[in-house]
Amino acid sequence: MFESIQTRGVDNLLSLMQTFRADPRPHKVDLVVGVYKDEHGHVPIMRSVKEAEQRLVDGENTKNYVGISGDADFCALVPDVLLGAAAKPIVERRMQSMQTPGGSGALKVACDFLNTMEKGKRIWVSTPTWANHIPVAKDAGLTVDHYPYFRPSDKGLDFAGMMDHLQANARSGDVVLLHACCHNPTGVDLSLEQWQTVTELVMNRGLLPLVDCAYQGLAEGMEADASGLRHMADAVPEMLIANSFSKNFGIYRERTGAISVIAQSPAQLEQAKVGIETVIRSNYSMPPSHGARVVTTILSDPALCEDWQAELSKIRARITEMRHALQGKLHQRQVNLDTGFLTTQRGMFSYTGFSPEVVKRLKEDSAIYIAGDGRINIAGLCHANLEGVADGMAAAIAAARSADS
Ligand code: PLP
Repeated sequence: MFESIQTRGVDNLLSLMQTFRADPRPHKVDLVVGVYKDEHGHVPIMRSVKEAEQRLVDGENTKNYVGISGDADFCALVPDVLLGAAAKPIVERRMQSMQTPGGSGALKVACDFLNTMEKGKRIWVSTPTWANHIPVAKDAGLTVDHYPYFRPSDKGLDFAGMMDHLQANARSGDVVLLHACCHNPTGVDLSLEQWQTVTELVMNRGLLPLVDCAYQGLAEGMEADASGLRHMADAVPEMLIANSFSKNFGIYRERTGAISVIAQSPAQLEQAKVGIETVIRSNYSMPPSHGARVVTTILSDPALCEDWQAELSKIRARITEMRHALQGKLHQRQVNLDTGFLTTQRGMFSYTGFSPEVVKRLKEDSAIYIAGDGRINIAGLCHANLEGVADGMAAAIAAARSADS
């Protein structure tokens, strides 16, 4: 029976990682997967997370279900983390968060919910966007359309293109998917001023924003990274936010995230909440507990929270250091490449604009693995592999250039 199954294949990144694992070259470098790695190339457990886990092991006294919306304390904390306690939707009791299995779970719930509002509802996504956005939205039944975002010529933002396209094509009731910060895969973010302009467009056109907040805290800090999102949330009548705690707490495998809804009124909020709970119930019934309890334990204890913030700020500093270090090493090698993008793009990723030929040479000649679209995980760099990566990049760029000429 299974022979008739039509598969679209595994995610390209996942199959690339299988090739990486099978590569016997000892100096191989993984700049593919979107996880934070420390100076030793290890995906660490944060000190504050370990401490919270210890407290949970000692104090947890039940394994009862957590309920459809998840842990109540966690759900009460999420709006403050995203928007700050004084945000209008919180004060006006128009916002509700529900725990989900990671940011992916939140996006799946959001898209299923949107499709219950209107079958085949149109959702606008940036070109490019996180590889999983499109299948998640399509499998939920949504109609996916694309707006310009990344401009290859300067590896920056095509803001005029984005605005013109949405002005011309987005219709009332359409959903627009935005990345709160650290855009994946490009590392190119909207400025606060640009968020203000997009907010006006959203309101004038009657669009519904769905904001994916997967990297809060990895660019400038938990508050600064949410400034655009906060501006928009204060202004628009309705909004969905899918957020992940995988990256800022380093708890990828604990599947911890939330779907938050902002409604026009508390009564409409209740309706939306029931709609979302219905979708959760038929998807996975109830979320797991552990990751959400870890986040709640840390955020509710001032000392632990301070320690977590300090750890997060070290993560940011290491990423920034690696951005500058790679830029410096490429300059030393006089590589024919404008490397300005390395230090202007934000968060864990940089979009190099490397051609498929350069990407292939990096892998084949130097065992440096980067995503097929040229995205590199800056956190995969460390002092031990920097020289090799810079050498490999210089060689691959030069070889591709001479093959071209
Ligand atoms: N959204 C974006 C933009 C991401 O990059 C990711 C993960 O890489 C997610 C959502 C999903 O996060 P999670 O691992 O918590 O499901």
